[in-house]
Amino acid sequence: MTTDPECIFCKIVAGDLPAEKIHEDDETVAFMDVNPGTRGHALVVPKKHTKDLLEIEPDQLAAVAQSAQVVARRAMERLDADGVNLLNCCGEEAWQTVFHFHLHVVPRYVDDPLQLPWIPAPGEPDEIARTAKLLRD
Ligand code: 5GP
Ligand code: ZN
Repeated sequence: MTTDPECIFCKIVAGDLPAEKIHEDDETVAFMDVNPGTRGHALVVPKKHTKDLLEIEPDQLAAVAQSAQVVARRAMERLDADGVNLLNCCGEEAWQTVFHFHLHVVPRYVDDPLQLPWIPAPGEPDEIARTAKLLRD
């Protein structure tokens, strides 16, 4: 198993740093975020150290996504959440602060204080089409 001795999430996976673990399987661990955005905010990580979305192997990404689904279902059933957001931050400019890949599982509640981080407004169709061209296969 690849680990980084400096990485706090590797330490949590190994049990060398305390965390409120809530789910574990062969590939992943889920534990509570110490700075919860809402009640039940959890993080799901691969046991294998991988920096971010661009570096994680597809099977590891799939394993983390499946664990996130387990945690999301529990939040709905056991915390009476009204919805769930999954969030990944990839890169410092995208708010990533811990460089061991993780998905945030954020239970949502009617009237919770969270807001969309962008203001939805119609884009310029030509610009959207030009950008789509760059992103297409
Ligand atoms: P990021 O900003 O990289 O997307 O998310 C990192 C998350 O890890 C943050 O929400 C932060 O609150 C959480 N976090 C940072 N240090 C620790 C820790 O030592 N233990 C736990 N459980 N969560 C942590
Ligand atoms: Zn790590």
